[in-house]
Amino acid sequence: MLLLGLINLAGCNRAPQNGILATTTLAADLVRSLLPPDVPVETLMGPGVDPHTFEARSGSIRQLHTARLIVHHGLHLEGRLADLIDGMELQTPNRIHSLATPLIRDHNARLRREGEEVDPHVWFSPSLWRATVPDLAAALRRVFPEHAENIATREEQLLQSLANLDSELRATLSAIPPENRILVTSHDAFGYWAADYGFEVHAIQGISTATEVAESTLRELANLITRTKIPAGFVESSVSPRTVEKLRQLVGPDRFRIGGELYSDSLGPPGTPAGTYAGMLRHNANLMVAALGTAKHAP
Ligand SMILES: [Zn+2]
Repeated sequence: MLLLGLINLAGCNRAPQNGILATTTLAADLVRSLLPPDVPVETLMGPGVDPHTFEARSGSIRQLHTARLIVHHGLHLEGRLADLIDGMELQTPNRIHSLATPLIRDHNARLRREGEEVDPHVWFSPSLWRATVPDLAAALRRVFPEHAENIATREEQLLQSLANLDSELRATLSAIPPENRILVTSHDAFGYWAADYGFEVHAIQGISTATEVAESTLRELANLITRTKIPAGFVESSVSPRTVEKLRQLVGPDRFRIGGELYSDSLGPPGTPAGTYAGMLRHNANLMVAALGTAKHAP
């Protein structure tokens, strides 16, 4: 414990004195796209970390307290940090930027709801993710007025590249026939993707991974897969593959295969093809085409 504390403290010493702390790799990628490369951007949760269940230890709490600006998703994605961040926002509102604010304000009708909860996985709609950019750029200009012009140029480029990415993904995914446009995944992260690109999603867990998996859900899904002859499902990089494997055993391993690992709530490691937002979505789209783009297996 002591050692862990020391490591965390050492981590804190590297925390930006005048930099940005993004809660996830996705938020960090967005921030980095808007800032000159010499501005330090730290990430609270590294690649592969599940934001729904992430709990702040002493080191990450210090990071949160020392950052000049914290960029978080909101919509309860960072479930166990939400109260802490809300408390900090009450004390120092200018230090907290929620990516969800412009979505709630301007795109409320497009936000998916499951009971009381709003689906936080908005990055799976490049057009919604794009809608978070102007407010974020404004917040960054406020914190770094010396980079205002640079940020404005980057904002314009980012808006264009996200629009291009949306068209590119649409073209890639057109290789999947309509009857195969069913995604079976570990948790319900792909609802916005489904809405934008014409898929149906059947997830083992709900919009948060912080829930138990019901045996009845697995049985219902197994029946659906048998009935519709969906050839493959997907595991996710930030969720244990255990439940999808269990589902595969229920259906029969020869009738349902694992189509690969989708990046859902975290980017891939830096320097890998899925280490950027665009790379991650391309990886997912290509995996879906490879697994679902062919004709269904024989009954
Ligand atoms: Zn999630």
